[in-house]
Amino acid sequence: MIKSVAVIGGGTMGNGIAHVFAQKGYSVNLIDVRQEALDKALATIGKNMDRQIAKGGLTEEEKASALGNITTYTELSKGVSAVDLVVEAATENVDIKLSIFREMDAHAPAHAILATNTSSISITKIAAVTQRPTQVVGMHFMNPVPVMKLVEVIEGFKTDESVTKLILELSKSLGKVPALTKDYPGFIANRILMPMINEAIISLHEGVAGVEEIDTIMKLGMAHPMGPLQLADFIGLDVCLAILNVLHDGFGNPKYAPCPLLVNMVTSGDLGVKSGRGFYDYGHGTKDLIVAPGFAKK
Ligand code: NAD
Repeated sequence: MIKSVAVIGGGTMGNGIAHVFAQKGYSVNLIDVRQEALDKALATIGKNMDRQIAKGGLTEEEKASALGNITTYTELSKGVSAVDLVVEAATENVDIKLSIFREMDAHAPAHAILATNTSSISITKIAAVTQRPTQVVGMHFMNPVPVMKLVEVIEGFKTDESVTKLILELSKSLGKVPALTKDYPGFIANRILMPMINEAIISLHEGVAGVEEIDTIMKLGMAHPMGPLQLADFIGLDVCLAILNVLHDGFGNPKYAPCPLLVNMVTSGDLGVKSGRGFYDYGHGTKDLIVAPGFAKK
């Protein structure tokens, strides 16, 4: 029975995951190495709950009670010492994740399940650095966590069936819809999404169509809420490149080779929304979607 949860990393995903657990009545220890990340996370959760209140989905009392369920820590060993589940949502870097899992394995109670929100790192590899690989599992939430229904649950090579079952049930208790996958590069979400994004970039690079045309075709033709190039900007072009590299290395198949245009954009610092420029320009202070100068029609 899971009652208390630690969330590691108070960034984009960590604050959303803490938000959802706290709102459902779980006791949440939110852990980050940076105090300012924790302060920002609490402010973001408060603001996002205000938005829910404005839409009638939450009351002021429920907000107060949810925020009261969250305690912040900068020391991982303290934050995980008495919880039933840890959901790790720290920076997507193999060395950071392996070191966090070694540390949480040493300090979390023996019965605790250790989950990771990684987008692309092997669950089996992460599990192998712990003494409890049967209790390590992938719990891949989507951004923004309070809004998106899906949790991709990833069963590592050694994950025990009872652990998978518990995480599937837990995801449902959070109001989410879980979908189970095995642990192979990109799992399912990114294995299918990233080649589509890469193909959109290759099509642009080859001059088959422009930015707006590609996104319009995929939005109106396939009923996607966002075109693949806009979605790539939203996810972050550096993140897309890193995941394509994981697919390329993991399968050894040239079909996953990242488009050279994507590589150039990331190398030159055009990372999408977070840097102000990707396939679209975000530096103009309006909500309009304006194609970045390099891609605008001549
Ligand atoms: P982020 O950069 O917004 O936040 C990462 C946080 O981790 C930072 O606040 C950082 O201070 C903290 N951190 C770094 N090292 C730490 C440590 N040793 N201990 C505790 N905290 C530490 O990143 P994010 O976008 O929230 O991504 C987090 C994870 O979620 C990644 O694995 C990513 O692949 C995955 N993910 C991201 C998205 C997305 O759209 N952003 C979607 C699904 C999954």
